[in-house]
Amino acid sequence: MGIGSRLFLIIFISLGLGIFVSYIIAERDITDTFQKHIINELQNQASLLAEVVDEVDAIGDLNEADSLADRLGSASNSRVTLILSDGRVIGDSDVDTQNINDLDNHINRPEVQDAFLKGSGWSIRYSDTVKQQQMYFAILDNNDVSPNVIRIAVPYVNVDSAIGSLNLSIILIALVAFIVTSIASGIAANYAYRSIADLAYATSKIAVADGKARKKDLKALPTERTDEFGNVAQSVSQISEELKSKINLIAKQRDQFGSVLDDLGEGIIVADIDGKITYENEQVSLILNKNELVGKKITDLNIKSLNYLLKRAKKKKRADIEFEIELNDRSIRWVLATINQSKTTKEFILVVHDITQLRRFSSMRRDFISNVSHELRTPVSVIRANSETLVDGALEDKKQSKVFAKAILHNSERLSDMVSSLLDLSRIDYGELRLNIEELDINKHIDKAIDSLKNLGKRKNISIECSCSKGKIVLADKNALERILNNLIENAFKYSDSQSTINISTRKVKDHLEISVKDSGKGIPDEEQDYLFDRFYRTAEARATEEKGSGLGLAIVKNLVNNLNGDVGVKNAKPQGSIFWFTLPLNTS
Ligand code: ADP
Repeated sequence: MGIGSRLFLIIFISLGLGIFVSYIIAERDITDTFQKHIINELQNQASLLAEVVDEVDAIGDLNEADSLADRLGSASNSRVTLILSDGRVIGDSDVDTQNINDLDNHINRPEVQDAFLKGSGWSIRYSDTVKQQQMYFAILDNNDVSPNVIRIAVPYVNVDSAIGSLNLSIILIALVAFIVTSIASGIAANYAYRSIADLAYATSKIAVADGKARKKDLKALPTERTDEFGNVAQSVSQISEELKSKINLIAKQRDQFGSVLDDLGEGIIVADIDGKITYENEQVSLILNKNELVGKKITDLNIKSLNYLLKRAKKKKRADIEFEIELNDRSIRWVLATINQSKTTKEFILVVHDITQLRRFSSMRRDFISNVSHELRTPVSVIRANSETLVDGALEDKKQSKVFAKAILHNSERLSDMVSSLLDLSRIDYGELRLNIEELDINKHIDKAIDSLKNLGKRKNISIECSCSKGKIVLADKNALERILNNLIENAFKYSDSQSTINISTRKVKDHLEISVKDSGKGIPDEEQDYLFDRFYRTAEARATEEKGSGLGLAIVKNLVNNLNGDVGVKNAKPQGSIFWFTLPLNTS
């Protein structure tokens, strides 16, 4: 039911009730007043009649009595009945004389009874004689010994017609009330409806508006009104403002929290009690290699370990697991996942860490130890075997003892080289190597390295040349640069074929200078290039040659270059050979 209909009903029912109650009261009062008035009139007339008649039983005969009643009736314009003390009627203005004796004995008529008891009495009832509603008033005559009754009656229709006209007025009033109610409720409903509709429109706008539109929508609220609608509008406006600032605050906190979670480095997933994901940070998709997880279930991610983890968390509240996932390029990523179930919300908080690097480091450490032991064991066993042979008698043989002693010397040199390389590496690793960065003319240092190593090439008749642009100043440590150049040039000599040429060149790459050492040796197979700078790594080819080496030189080069803020790499030369390159920051000032 609409507001208009409700208002109409309320007003109409209230008005109807008011009119009905007024009608009842008015009818009662009017009837009462009329009756009192008529009784009063009848009493006056009856008193007069009593004076005129004096004593009813003193009238000679029936004819005389009835004719007196007729005269009195026509004089008073009412019905007059003369009743003897025993109730017999001897005269009635509305009954013919010959019918008087047919009338009932009136002793039991209420007004007659009252008259005998109290001197006068009245009643209203339907008269069979005159066939209409009559009001009777009875009074005693002047016979003190055996009083008779003189009764006067008038039709009661007067009162009824008065009440009837009252009914008509009431119907008219009700009709007018209905029309007034309809118009009034219509106007009131329309007014209320418009006010509420305005308010509802403005509040609905606020409800759906985004942050930008809200200011404008708040202005649409009728806050300037001074009535109840104005109060509601002011309250809505105030609540909206408060809500807005609270939402802004929450959004700000959420953003801050979200960016903290995004920057954490760990992937975070929040899932509800059914395992449905409700939050993910940026890292998750990177670590798990899956996108748009919100809305999916953890079990939908098709990662068996996570399903198992969720199962365990449901029982134990906290669980963790390490597992591997295969990435698009078929490489493997190791993931450590920890899950916790919140005590209060029962939500699951899953944290995933990429532990590939950690695993790699620990496997590198294991490899390193086994490599070190392996590499050290060879020279140590040679030294030991040769020493034992010497002790066991080879010393007597001068020629043989020289061979064994040379082998001991050679292997102890190798051992010493390896140990000092390892020490250097660990010093670089732990940041103990002090680098004195200064402006260095690269050509001068390349020339110096070539000069010091030129002799190495003589054995295989390898020439070395530099096609370097002059005047390039780099920022580097003198000793580190010397070591890098020596290592790369030594390798080039070592792994080059006889009669070949080594070429050193420089070129500017952005704000760095790239220095390349190109040889025309066997080159390095593509699949081995990635491991070349790892400690102890030697290509299968190198291991097969007689060239001695530890596989630590390039690892030292890489560490030194990186410490000088440069980069290092290798590529194949055409038609054959390899190009080892490294970059150093150019002095731009
Ligand atoms: P070492 O030379 O002592 O073995 P390095 O760390 O200097 O150790 O070199 C590692 C490996 O890289 C070598 O064993 C060799 O297999 C390969 N290598 C280095 N330089 C060259 C080169 N110029 N040509 C071909 N292979 C090379």
